[in-house]
Amino acid sequence: MQIIRHPAEMTAWAKEQAKAGHRIGLVPTMGFFHEGHLSLMRRAGQLADFVAVSLFVNPTQFGPQEDLAAYPRNFERDCAMVEAAGVSVLFAPIAAEMYPAGFSTTVAVGAELTGQLCGASRPGHFAGVATVVCKLFNIVQPDVAVFGQKDFQQLAVIRRMTADLNLGVEIVAHPIVREADGLAMSSRNTYLLPQQRESALSLSRALALARTIAAEGERSTERLTTVLRDFIHSFPETEVDYISFVHQDTLQQVAEIDEKTVIALAVKIGGRVRLIDNGLVL
Ligand code: AMP
Repeated sequence: MQIIRHPAEMTAWAKEQAKAGHRIGLVPTMGFFHEGHLSLMRRAGQLADFVAVSLFVNPTQFGPQEDLAAYPRNFERDCAMVEAAGVSVLFAPIAAEMYPAGFSTTVAVGAELTGQLCGASRPGHFAGVATVVCKLFNIVQPDVAVFGQKDFQQLAVIRRMTADLNLGVEIVAHPIVREADGLAMSSRNTYLLPQQRESALSLSRALALARTIAAEGERSTERLTTVLRDFIHSFPETEVDYISFVHQDTLQQVAEIDEKTVIALAVKIGGRVRLIDNGLVL
């Protein structure tokens, strides 16, 4: 496996592959890998001849009060893990090369997709995400890129941007990978103190509860939201950021659930660890 640090070198590698007729698969990440990341990489390997993984903790997608400095990092462990997953290139640029002096362009997807859910709690986050993913697509020139459904709004934003800007990259969504007890895997789970681990289960259990109540015939998202909020708050140290029932493609809120309704949750544990989860209700 090659480790590439410089964007120009990454693009040179990509052009060589294209010349040889090889398909490139890209998995954009912020590192500190877990099984969720690895399953995205393996999926990319099924869809392309060579897989490139980008590892970049993108400063522009973190707000001033967020965890950029504390975000977990372990480059050596990450290298060993991606190598074992059959990845050809780990692209790990430094921020000064991604955003050199004078950098002043932003790719911003419209408020219909970015104004609610995580976009409301994290202003500027999706502009940071769209800009860096657009740059990564231009640098790595993938045929296909794999993203996790865990970041469900991010996926919708990337699909919109890719279509709107004719980026010509096939976007593939990969299901959420979970721990045995249902907790969605996340690099941020490492922030949880042992006594908070149980409270982190409030998200996946709330999804399961929503499904049970919906299966019994409930369709009102207002009533479901009330039940779920109380359920989540019955776990210690939890604070609901949002509980939203939205259409899976448009991300617009719905009053009544149907087969296309996704429930999306964000919950803060212990006042500092913000976790998200989502899934279809029916
Ligand atoms: P991150 O490094 O957290 O920015 O995530 C990189 C990619 O991995 C994104 O496309 C995420 O949606 C995806 N991802 C993170 N956690 C999971 C998970 N538990 N299951 C599936 N995909 C995931």
